[in-house]
Amino acid sequence: MSGHLAVVGLGPGDAGYLTQEAKAALAAADALYGYGPYLDRVPARAGQSRHASDNREERARAAAALRHAAQGARVAVVSGGDPGVFAMAAAVCEEIEAGPESWHALDVVFVPGITAMLAVAARIGAPLGHDFCAMSLSDNLKPWELIERRLDAAAAAGFVIALYNPVSKARPWQLGNAIERLRVHLPGATPIIFGRAVGRTDERLSVTTLDAADRTQADMATLIIVGSRETRVIARRGRSPLVYTPRAASKVNA
Ligand code: SAH
Repeated sequence: MSGHLAVVGLGPGDAGYLTQEAKAALAAADALYGYGPYLDRVPARAGQSRHASDNREERARAAAALRHAAQGARVAVVSGGDPGVFAMAAAVCEEIEAGPESWHALDVVFVPGITAMLAVAARIGAPLGHDFCAMSLSDNLKPWELIERRLDAAAAAGFVIALYNPVSKARPWQLGNAIERLRVHLPGATPIIFGRAVGRTDERLSVTTLDAADRTQADMATLIIVGSRETRVIARRGRSPLVYTPRAASKVNA
């Protein structure tokens, strides 16, 4: 019998974000692999084994899951948000490409989840209502110079920018540097959204401007959306503001 591997997105937070497809894939698995706190979000099922590993061991985790599936088991690897966005799906593909022929023959499926930028955007209006891009600010897997180049290009081209992995203990200065760079290209009044732990009990959301933004507003669980010149804020009495990027872009800002 050939094995089966599902790479499953759990969404950003509580079970309300889990798709029916993801729920079914998790229930059908004999073994679950993932970062401990993500595995803790999956309800326990008798007879299902769990293999927790550290967040930085993505390649090793992918290889372990593939080995297990190649023995004939039904295995699920879990990711927060969507597995294809800065997460396990690419790690699994990298291992398959580099791995033995038997891994190429495995039945592998990718089950999408709601990624953090969509969950943050939905809390505040429609900041991603027009052209946008997503970047990871982590320089663990790419040089910082490349990140700077992409930030410059994205801001100058008028994209709204979703920033994943803005800071960590090992990367304290990068976000401050990125904000400085964005200020070269964008007006000080450009809206910036900091969305932290969206969909979890410790969720926190704030809207500020590029001028007022600083790196202490973000931690590892924060997703930042940097507006474009087109992005607007609607102040509402007694309610939190709405932030949106209109569907029509002006020639001036193109
Ligand atoms: N695969 C995940 C992203 C993994 S990278 C996804 O699709 O969402 C980890 C980064 O995602 C964090 O540093 C943070 O920027 C963002 N993130 C993940 N969950 C989040 C949440 N609930 N709220 C805000 N940002 C989140």
